[in-house]
Amino acid sequence: MEKTRKQAITPGNPTVLQSQKLQEYILKTSVYPREPNALKELRIAASNHPMAFMSTSPDSGQFMALLLKLVNPKKAIEIGVFTGYSLLLTALTIPDDGKITAIDIDRKAYEMGLPSIKKAGVENKIDFIESPAMPILDKLLEDTEKEGSFDFAFVDADKNNYWNYHERLMKLIKVGGMVMYDNTLWGGTVAWPEEDVPEAKREWRRCAIEFNELVSADARVEISQVPLGDGITICRRVC
Ligand code: SAH
Ligand code: CA
Repeated sequence: MEKTRKQAITPGNPTVLQSQKLQEYILKTSVYPREPNALKELRIAASNHPMAFMSTSPDSGQFMALLLKLVNPKKAIEIGVFTGYSLLLTALTIPDDGKITAIDIDRKAYEMGLPSIKKAGVENKIDFIESPAMPILDKLLEDTEKEGSFDFAFVDADKNNYWNYHERLMKLIKVGGMVMYDNTLWGGTVAWPEEDVPEAKREWRRCAIEFNELVSADARVEISQVPLGDGITICRRVC
């Protein structure tokens, strides 16, 4: 138990919500043999980043790519790019005339993955904006024509703002569109008593719990929360 909890204090650690052996089995059998070369290359290039554990895990990425194929979005928003694993997989998956507004405060991390994005020939689908996400979403909403104009959003940044992002995305994403939120199980700690959670992880654990409850009660969306990676909540806007 102690070992599991130690692992769990690194949110994003995919071995927490599944056994490590099962995770390795899934990666080896179903994910790595099918991972596009460009993504593999980006993953390896980005593995030197000291915070590389924050990258989307390849099994979550594969799930996301499959959902994207079903939704076939032309206009997407990504909040929280880091070195670009989820961004590149989105760019590879959406149609040739698709566009992604990708927002992150850290351009340096994005530039680590950029050579793989360029090599894959999908940089033209990406509009990277170096900024906190909130003012950018608010700016998009100033233009009423942007309301309901996006098909998909992936949210993977500061957890204390997830509900603020959700409120804005419920205007920007069209009815029938999809929003995915990452890290909604926060290393599994959402299900622990607070006193067992290391102090440094408590604030975003509380944010995750609050967000999960709010989104569960939100009639504007259909949802599914899956224990993949660090927990992903998928929302489909219904009204
Ligand atoms: N989706 C990425 C991982 C994102 S990690 C991948 O697949 O690799 C979280 C990212 O959120 C970090 O790069 C961090 O710089 C960014 N971030 C944190 N606060 C932010 C904010 N207020 N606005 C935009 N990005 C933010
Ligand atoms: Ca994440």
